[in-house]
Amino acid sequence: MTQISPTRSMSDRRPEDILVRLGIERPPIDVFEVARALEIEVVQLEMPGWDCAVRTTEKSKQIWLDQAVLPRRKRFNLAHAIGHVQLHPLGEYRDSTYVPDTTSTQEREANNFAGKLLMPEEMTYLGIRVYSSSAFKLADLFDVSPEAMNWRLKALGLR
Ligand SMILES: [Zn+2]
Repeated sequence: MTQISPTRSMSDRRPEDILVRLGIERPPIDVFEVARALEIEVVQLEMPGWDCAVRTTEKSKQIWLDQAVLPRRKRFNLAHAIGHVQLHPLGEYRDSTYVPDTTSTQEREANNFAGKLLMPEEMTYLGIRVYSSSAFKLADLFDVSPEAMNWRLKALGLR
């Protein structure tokens, strides 16, 4: 009999597809719920000395977060870490700071994944149309930092 390992399906590489599959249609995205649905174990630690860490093996997916980080940044860190889990080879990843224009391809990919997961394109357009184009107000709507919202608006060509 063929052994089936918990490999990632192609659709789980796209945040948009994950949200559709989970039936999540409006912000703010419950990123902890997304992690649960993807069978990722999330553990929060006191002062680990980094923002988030990831370990993926054939059998398990784990993310550790610094519990003292402010909630909105923690949400982004978790979304970023989920990006590593879904996109990158099995192994260990550790992030000490969130740097949006980092030169590392994997860090950039994880940040893009996090932006799309927390601020999906369609929801962002809808948010602007029916709510506000203010990055601060949109940041409240999506429960992200204004910096992350601004960066996402730029990525969508809206700033
Ligand atoms: Zn990272």
